[in-house]
Formats: sequence, structure tokens, C-alpha cells
Amino acid sequence: MLTPHVRGDEPGSDKKLGFCFVGIGNLCMNPLLPEIHHSKYAKPVALVSGHPEKAQKQAAKHGIDPKRIYNYESFDTIKDNPEIDVVYIVLPNGMHAEYTIRAAKAGKHVLCEKPMANSSEDCRKMIAACKEAGKLLQIGYRLHFEPNNLALIDAIKSGQCGALKLIENGAGFGIGDPTQWRLKKALSGGGCLMDIGVYALNAARYMSGEEPIEVRAMMHATKDDPRFQEVEEHCNFELRFPSGMLASCASSYSTGLNRYTAHCTKGWAELDPALSYHELKFAVNRGHGVERPELPDIFQFAAEMDAFCESIMNNKPSRAPGEEGLKDVIAIEAIYKAAETGQAVKIDMNA
Ligand code: NAD
Repeated sequence: MLTPHVRGDEPGSDKKLGFCFVGIGNLCMNPLLPEIHHSKYAKPVALVSGHPEKAQKQAAKHGIDPKRIYNYESFDTIKDNPEIDVVYIVLPNGMHAEYTIRAAKAGKHVLCEKPMANSSEDCRKMIAACKEAGKLLQIGYRLHFEPNNLALIDAIKSGQCGALKLIENGAGFGIGDPTQWRLKKALSGGGCLMDIGVYALNAARYMSGEEPIEVRAMMHATKDDPRFQEVEEHCNFELRFPSGMLASCASSYSTGLNRYTAHCTKGWAELDPALSYHELKFAVNRGHGVERPELPDIFQFAAEMDAFCESIMNNKPSRAPGEEGLKDVIAIEAIYKAAETGQAVKIDMNA
């Protein structure tokens, strides 16, 4: 049950919901805060940070009242601030569950970054907390609202390329500083699979329109590289889907991978690049040569925030709800198990 009347949905209001950002790191400072000014329905009203000076600087830059800066200890008092409609969690993965649950208990809708949490158990707790509070939960899957990704899905679904048979998705980048939280298992939940491989996995699910039922996987970490003492450097996995469709996915923390390809019986459809913040490129071959339509290059995070606001204002489910994040984490747990055991592992999304 959702709250029927929210600020911003009243006649005569400016129709903008107030966002509170938790964790002022790289993603928050750029692109989230700059892009919120391009959104139709979202505005920044509060920040949560352990670094007051940084928070004050960002507040001044983005027109946020300095009195609306919280820290991790005072976070729960956001419940007394009616200007905050949505809490956007931009913390290390291992902190998503705690802050999503605290935000829901404070009576706020939650937009939580990907991957949803370090375990499916935590994902379930997050979904339950938001349900209990009567608040919406969306996961930061910006590509669910991105025109090139949507065109790829349409091209496959339309059947114009023939039947989908194989998917090949790659997502990776070279990671730097060995001391960062992404390389500490307690905060990250894992290596490249959690951070960037989740895109290849999520896309395999939305490209196929099916849920994977089995996985085989292989991981590697270069032995003496200080970056990969706790988490994997590469994780490649093969997914089997109920129709017989197979997906081959690669993820890496030491090489750039940024392409999704759907191989069909008459042709193919592809994104290259597939997951950058800008200038994604869609190409399709419906059996009569290659077409490269020019599609809008949008502010992906503004679109994601607007979609969430529309869900809240219209009392409709999010297009990227907690349940979507949970499915990826269930698959990720199976992928790690498959890689660790060298065995094929069944995936049961309803377990
Ligand atoms: P970051 O390291 O730049 O920022 C993390 C923030 O968390 C910092 O402000 C840091 O001070 C704060 N923090 C609080 N407690 C901390 C602790 N114990 N250890 C470390 N940091 C702590 O990270 P980021 O790149 O902004 O990533 C944040 C989240 O956003 C992650 O979940 C990541 O997966 C996600 N992300 C998503 C996208 C996307 O395209 N959707 C892109 C980048 C990051």
C-alpha cells in the first residue's frame, strides 16, 4: 500500500519531489547532483555525509539549504523533514540494506544504487521494510530508461531479426586505487561481477525477457596484484534460459568491455557502447544489412529519477523495483557458487 498523497502531487504545487542524497562520493557529485537539475519532477533538498565541509560545498553548489545537511548519526531525523520525499542511497554496496531500511522507517521512498545489496537475504529485508512503510523502492538501473537499450529490447522482441538464440554481453573497466571500498569484500560484496558484471547480467535478462535457470562460471584474480586480494578480477559466466537461449557474459576489472549483442536467426542487434553514461550506439541487422538509427542521448540519471517520481506521484509500481534488484543478486549468488565449485548451478528466482 502506497501513501496516496505525496508532496509534489497536490494541485498548484511545482510537481517536484525532494531528494535527499546519502553518500557524497563520485557518482553523487557527478553525475547525480548535476543531472537532477535536468529532471522534470525531482529536486535536491538534503544531503547525508560524514564530511561536513564537502557537504557544505555541494549544498552551496546545488541550492540546498545548509541546515538540510545530515550525517550518518543524525540520518534518522530525516523523518521530521517533510521536504524529503525520496532518499537516494549512493553508498558502498554493503551499506545499501541498512540505509534503505532506515530510510523506509523514516517514512521515505527509496532509490538505491545497484547492485541492490551484498546478499539476497538483505534484498528481501529491504523490500519488506519498504512494503511495511508503504513506500516505493527503485534500484538504480539507469539503462532501463535509456533509448538505445530500449531499442535493443524492441528489436529483439519484435522478432524482426528472427528468433533470439544467443546473447554475448561484456562489461568491464580497469580499476585503480587498491585501497578503495570496491576491492574490500565486506563493503563491495565481490569484485567486477558485483560492480560492473551486474550490467551484463541484467541486460541478458532484459534482452531475453526470460529468467536464467542455470549457470556455469569461471573467475580469476592475478595473484600478486594488490587490487585483487579480496575480490575477483574477472568473472565470466554462461546462463541457460528456459527457451534454450544461452547468454555468454564477461566482466572484468582489468580491461574495458562495453558491448551487448543479441544473435538471432535472421540477423542481430547490438549496443556498442552499451553502458556508458552518454553516446550509446544501437545497431541492428534485420537480415537486410546494418542500420544505425540516431537515438536521443539523454541524461540517464535524470530519466531514472523522473521515472521514480512518476511512479510515486501516480501511485504506480516502479519499472525497476526492489524485486528486479533481488533477481540479479540471486543470480549473482549462483554465479559465485558456480565459479567456486566448478559445477553448473541451478537458479531459482522464487526460492
Ligand atoms: P564512492 O567511493 O565515490 O562514494 C561512496 C560514498 O560513500 C563516499 O561519499 C564515502 O564517503 C561514503 N561512505 C560512507 N561510509 C563509507 C565507508 N565505510 N567506506 C567507504 N565509503 C563510505 O563510490 P561511488 O562510485 O559513488 O559508488 C556508490 C554506489 O553507487 C555504489 O553502490 C556503486 O555501485 C553505485 N554506482 C552506480 C553507478 C551507475 O551507473 N548506476 C555508477 C557508479 C557507482
